[in-house]
Amino acid sequence: MAKHIDNLKKLVGDSNALDREEDIHPFLEDWRGHIKGSTPLILFPNNSDDVQNIVHYCYQNDIKIVSQGGNTSLCGANVPNSSDHRLEIVINTSKMNRVIEVDSFNQSIIVESGCILQNIQETAEDHGLLFPLSLSAEGTCQIGGNVSTNAGGVNVLKYGMARDQVMGIEAVLPDGSIFTDLKSLRKNNTGYDLKQLFIGAEGTLGVITKVSLRLSSSPQREISSMVSLESVDDAINLLKETKKRFGDNVTAFEFISQSCLVAINDFLSHIKLPLGHEDSWQVIFEIINHSEDDLSEFLEKQLSEDLIKNALIAKNEKDRNDFWLVRHSISEAEKLSGRGVHHDISLPITKIPEFLKTTIPAMEKVAGKSIVYTFGHLGDGNLHFTKKQPEDMDGDQFMRFSKEINAVVHENAEFLGGSFSAEHGIGSKLKDDLIKYSDPTKVDLMKKIKKTLDPKNIMNPDKLIDI
Ligand SMILES: Cc1cc2nc3c(=O)[nH]c(=O)nc-3n(C[C@H](O)[C@H](O)[C@H](O)COP(=O)(O)OP(=O)(O)OC[C@H]3O[C@@H](n4cnc5c(N)ncnc54)[C@H](O)[C@@H]3O)c2cc1C
Repeated sequence: MAKHIDNLKKLVGDSNALDREEDIHPFLEDWRGHIKGSTPLILFPNNSDDVQNIVHYCYQNDIKIVSQGGNTSLCGANVPNSSDHRLEIVINTSKMNRVIEVDSFNQSIIVESGCILQNIQETAEDHGLLFPLSLSAEGTCQIGGNVSTNAGGVNVLKYGMARDQVMGIEAVLPDGSIFTDLKSLRKNNTGYDLKQLFIGAEGTLGVITKVSLRLSSSPQREISSMVSLESVDDAINLLKETKKRFGDNVTAFEFISQSCLVAINDFLSHIKLPLGHEDSWQVIFEIINHSEDDLSEFLEKQLSEDLIKNALIAKNEKDRNDFWLVRHSISEAEKLSGRGVHHDISLPITKIPEFLKTTIPAMEKVAGKSIVYTFGHLGDGNLHFTKKQPEDMDGDQFMRFSKEINAVVHENAEFLGGSFSAEHGIGSKLKDDLIKYSDPTKVDLMKKIKKTLDPKNIMNPDKLIDI
């Protein structure tokens, strides 16, 4: 093992490698700190050639590889599992963070996979354009990670998921060869669209090294509103009304349960809650290409019809940031509030009230009464849904129920026509559910694809699908 570590370090140079336990530590667990792993070596390649050399060496010597970007995965997809019997190294793309080309006329950008999402958004903005992928981890996560997880976020309603932004991909395959399809074309019907294989593959089929992305036109005007409501049915009716009035100009529609607002108030007290935390639900939504008067008139109507209890319109960028800070702080508050069993599910929107009505009591039957955090992308039917540890139960004791709680939630979501994994992916956490809820032909095809591209199973083994 020591010989391989030395040889691999030589490929990138000592300054681009970590092999001391104290330095490696932050790269060994998922964002919530629940899933922990181990590796003796983290490499930080500078470019595609470095990646190619590393992967080729690993292929020749049966060494396993985990690709890592910003390390914000919420399903353990980024955690390495080296052991005495198997060498599994990490390729971290942080140093591959160059913007290669922006074509304003074509509305496209080519970047290296280690570019931080927020930097891509800012580069697009500097060119008068928009890169619409946006999520709470955008200051940390990298585009390679976003593409590999097919990330969603707050603007899916109008612009789609990461997959919808990708025009081309360059990736190093498990045997060290390079797959290049980096053309920034909107039309290219030339057989199987192989780049799609790497989107949502969670690093199991290759290391993405470059991505060509579609940019969108910047909206003329963006206005955010924060609203409080009495029930989730009201939130859904507000979504219907908002879409009826503003159509495709609704870019985001997020909902937040009172429990999340209370958690922000308790654990992140420096964050201002513009509408307090007294009402059962809050919604933050955003419209483009309309005037403030249009929105004001719309909200007044909803207030007069008692659909909403209270409403604010962002008057400037600071207000807008204050609204969105609430939404983007929920995961952090949740993390500080103790143990929880987390879910990321999607449902047909109209089934959400039924899901909540049946699932919360069913979880109580399994593990007792406790706080439930519900928030997420209502416009996409995507709920982040967490059962917290009951006050009278020890954390470890509670976590022993996690499998049963997951079963209740995923079973109910699937029963109502939803999905057990909306946008966070499978990783090591949901592999059994993937088998349980998927069409067997799909599972079989996935295995065949993995075996064909990665016959030695060196790319992120034990994640997503076993072969
Ligand atoms: C606070 C918070 C909020 C979030 N909100 C959302 C949200 O709204 N929507 C959403 O979809 N997700 C969300 N996520 C999870 C989401 O998956 C990640 O934030 C992001 O997409 C992962 O990017 P990353 O660079 O951190 O990847 P990592 O966590 O480093 O890796 C994730 C997966 O991608 C693979 N990977 C990384 N880079 C490469 C590469 N170059 N080539 C091949 N494989 C690679 C890894 O092997 C792993 O399987 C959130 C996470 C956090 C912590």
